Amino acid sequence: MVKSAKKTAACGCAAANVPDYFGENVFNTKTMRNYLSNRAYRSLLSTIVSGENLDAGIADEVADAMKTWALSKGATHYTHWFQPLTGSTAEKHDSFIQPDEEGGVVMTFTGKELIKGEPDASSFPSGGLRATFEARGYTGWDPTSPAFIKESPSGATLCIPTIFCGWNGEALDKKTPLLRSMHALSTQVCRLGKLFGIDCEGKRAYGTLGPEQEYFLIDKQYYQKRLDLMQTGRTLFGCRPAKHQQMEDHYFGSIKPRIMTFMQDLDRELWRLGVPAKTRHNEVAPAQFEIAPVFEELNLAIDHNMVAMDVLKETADRHGLTCLLHEKPFAGVNGSGKHNNWSVCGPDGKNWLTPGENPHDNAKFLVMIVALMKAVDTHADLLRATVATAGNDHRLGANEAPPAIVSIFLGEQLTDVIEQIEKGAVKGSKKGGTIKVGVSSLPTLPRDATDRNRTSPFAFTGNKFEFRAVGSNQSCAGSNVAIDTIVAEALDEICARLEADVKAGKDFNASVQALLRNLVKKHKRILFNGDNYTAEWQKKAKQRGLPNVRKTPEALKALIRPDVVALMEKYQVLSKRELHSRYDVYLHAYHATVEIEANCALTIARTFLVPAVMRYAKELSASLCGVKAAGGGKLPESAKLLKEVSSGCDLMLKRAAELEKAVNDKSADKMLEGMVRLRTVADSMEGVVPHDRWPLPSYADMMFML
Ligand code: ADP
Ligand code: MG
Repeated sequence: MVKSAKKTAACGCAAANVPDYFGENVFNTKTMRNYLSNRAYRSLLSTIVSGENLDAGIADEVADAMKTWALSKGATHYTHWFQPLTGSTAEKHDSFIQPDEEGGVVMTFTGKELIKGEPDASSFPSGGLRATFEARGYTGWDPTSPAFIKESPSGATLCIPTIFCGWNGEALDKKTPLLRSMHALSTQVCRLGKLFGIDCEGKRAYGTLGPEQEYFLIDKQYYQKRLDLMQTGRTLFGCRPAKHQQMEDHYFGSIKPRIMTFMQDLDRELWRLGVPAKTRHNEVAPAQFEIAPVFEELNLAIDHNMVAMDVLKETADRHGLTCLLHEKPFAGVNGSGKHNNWSVCGPDGKNWLTPGENPHDNAKFLVMIVALMKAVDTHADLLRATVATAGNDHRLGANEAPPAIVSIFLGEQLTDVIEQIEKGAVKGSKKGGTIKVGVSSLPTLPRDATDRNRTSPFAFTGNKFEFRAVGSNQSCAGSNVAIDTIVAEALDEICARLEADVKAGKDFNASVQALLRNLVKKHKRILFNGDNYTAEWQKKAKQRGLPNVRKTPEALKALIRPDVVALMEKYQVLSKRELHSRYDVYLHAYHATVEIEANCALTIARTFLVPAVMRYAKELSASLCGVKAAGGGKLPESAKLLKEVSSGCDLMLKRAAELEKAVNDKSADKMLEGMVRLRTVADSMEGVVPHDRWPLPSYADMMFML
């Protein structure tokens, strides 16, 4: 039994009955207390908990304590662990050794080394922010995310979460803007708190996040025979087996013993690293699974998700499996996403997306809900841009994941409340009376699975919003930078209005009511409770003027639009230059991904598939000749098969040539189209060539042989 897992994760203190390995590889507050003087411990704790500036005077002591602890765990090296724009994590290891005066070595780690590192940054994507000749970038310690030990079979490394910036402070990573956006959100939430009479002195607010991570597992032996998986993360060929996910028998199904062993090992490894893994289950597609943690403060939750993705891959490998984190590893069955469950923890330590106990609290809750409506409606295409990747393009809008149209689901009751607010004094709504903000009570809002809309990209689920469009392989930093900042902007405008009204001596509840009414009128088009997969919704959304951006290059443009630049600069989250650099990096990554896929498809078609089909044609023709020589009949069906195989082979060569032309033309759209055309022929050949002659493991092998 694990008690208070949430508390453990947040404060690092092991509660009763928690397995003693929980957090054993984390330099958490409990460990700190054992290794630091009281003064240093208190000082560091106030930086971690209240966000106070780090006292540089304690850095040496903290570094030394971390080193002593790390050595006791078998570490020999340390690394600043950061999140460049590649979307994965980066590390450069240094050992603790230092020559001593007697010609030997000692193990040291200084405050300076803890606080700042200067990796040669020239090979990380910067989108032109930093020319190679001035490659200096620096990493800076993020004390709010605890250091941890990464183990490998023959050693261990101390990993220190850091930001990564250029010499002039320009962000080259995902964490820096995240921390900035968290600050912007905190400022505005506290401002609202003050209006509602909440004591915010010396306190802060923050976003909370629980990312649900979907993934596939296949046997490693198949992975190693699939050049496409190894090079691109997804299958570029393969026909769907007769049975895949039609029976809906995999979702929440009983977990096979081999997978269970993997999951137990995975959870144990994550717990050792302080990652509060909570839920595990089978997902919709065969061989697809999900893991979800207990939610944590945004920054920590994102670091933990990055760690979880690494641990997923490593653990799978140890079990003879391969973990596929790509958004669409298999065509024709569901892809994988990362449901981004987001909420706000106010300066009072409470979840501000929970309806309150009294009308006053509910007024605050409704302000938050309407702020979200305003934020998402105003910046729907910014949100869309944050989930734009080549991999995710296969998923969004494919009737399995939310569409590229961003809308909000509030559920029936809350929508009714919002409608009442809009109507103002009008009586006789569905639930009887009219809601008077700050005066009347809200109906009880359900918080169970019955009031869910799985097709909505941005759904209110009782006490949080779930943004479902994030790709499984993505860092969720980008989306949360956007959410924090757009909500900060909405709250900023709301607070400015309310503060002016208060100053003018107006009745507070009446001001809130009037303000919400106006905002609902303006932004209600973003609400949609229906089925997001339907063609009607596409039409309706268009009438409402909601953007529907299907492809990455188009979607990314939002990042450099003047209104987004103004927003990000106003809240000091990203400068114009930083936004342009991100745009360049992501667009380049998109084109590079598509080009790699196209070239890989060509290689596979020409050097694996065509030769296999030719060999089979030769076999067929030899057999037909043999029959003929033996004086057998004409065998029209077999002759037809030979013809089908030979012409299929020819068509494959023709389509490969077309794809090659698209590659030479550098047209991503044509490459994507060319890959599908080539694949269609190849997949039909897979349906006729004998299984043991087909050079790639089949979808059935990969999805069912577990
Ligand atoms: P479902 O699949 O039904 O949506 P899960 O239990 O798989 O639900 O995931 C829900 C996620 O939402 C969990 O990671 C959970 O910790 C997280 N969550 C719950 N409350 C909050 C909150 N206040 N803020 C952020 N995330 C939350
Ligand atoms: Mg779930």
